[in-house]
Amino acid sequence: MSEKMMNALRLNAVNDLEYCQVPIPAPGPSEVICRVESVSICGTDPHIINGDFRGMWPKEFPIILGHEWSGVIVELGEKAGDFGWKAGDRVCALSHVGCGQCKMCLEGRYTLCLNYGKSELGHRQYGHYSQGAYAQYMCASVKAIEKIPDEMDFNVASCMDPLSIALHMVMRSGIKPGDSVLINGAGAQGLMSILCVKSMGAGLIMISGSGTRLEAAKKMGAVPIDYRKEDVAARVKELTNGLGAKRVIECSGTEVGIRQACDAVGKGGCISMVSLPKEDVKIPIRKIVLDEIDLVGNRANPNTLAKSIPIGMNFIKEIRALITHEFPLSKYEEAFDIFNGRKDNSLKVVLKPQL
Ligand SMILES: [Zn+2]
Ligand SMILES: [Zn+2]
Repeated sequence: MSEKMMNALRLNAVNDLEYCQVPIPAPGPSEVICRVESVSICGTDPHIINGDFRGMWPKEFPIILGHEWSGVIVELGEKAGDFGWKAGDRVCALSHVGCGQCKMCLEGRYTLCLNYGKSELGHRQYGHYSQGAYAQYMCASVKAIEKIPDEMDFNVASCMDPLSIALHMVMRSGIKPGDSVLINGAGAQGLMSILCVKSMGAGLIMISGSGTRLEAAKKMGAVPIDYRKEDVAARVKELTNGLGAKRVIECSGTEVGIRQACDAVGKGGCISMVSLPKEDVKIPIRKIVLDEIDLVGNRANPNTLAKSIPIGMNFIKEIRALITHEFPLSKYEEAFDIFNGRKDNSLKVVLKPQL
């Protein structure tokens, strides 16, 4: 019997992407097969393609990347229906699936699963070392999907994964109603963080960045600080009567940006971080100690995908505005070129495997 085939974008080796035909995957008992409608390019994808995480993401070639996706369930594994899923359900998804048995998973911290990378124990990270969504069909654990409302289009739904990462980071900053916030970096994570801090009752929202991204942030209600023209920490102090920001959401991932976060945070404040700098950077530990600054690291989006969907609905216009480009999956070269070069004021670039 001949296998059914699908179009997919396969990474055969470092910097070797190929648009080709591969077999449609078959679901395990608690998995579903989804028809992929939208996949948005994540900033991590080009790094995986370039081989920056060799040996970890992916562990081996070939691999299909893509983890910010949405689609429709078309086939159920034998137990998936018992968990309440049915063919035709519209879903969005996240990349991490924990083993479900280890101490971290039992605490709900499954992005820190102690069995990370052991697919034989049920662990997955789709589009990183497990097969991802740059394809017409995607096999996903029921643990990794959430239903989306009929009113949410697939492009917006593909952004629920990065929105839920921003939400995890913002929640872990300990933000309280009325707190002043500095968001460091006006890329997709920074802009989505504006929506999350608003949802958590932020007071003054400041954001550092430059160019059209900073203008987008201003439209979303944040006070823009152009780091190329202004001293970010000094401007934050000015805007907060000398106090500094109560919460800093660090999305720049640069040495300068991280230093800036440390300088701009107020006494008793928190720096919540998501970006990975290329190398470890020096931070002012004496200030961190003497000013009782909380430093919080965040890995992906444990248990925040479901929460992010109603937030996404509240801000659906703002999220739609972040999606600047859409291409059929076959036009991936153009899509990555525009995304990587930030050409044409690109922000979120969506690929459509069904077109
Ligand atoms: Zn991502
Ligand atoms: Zn685990």
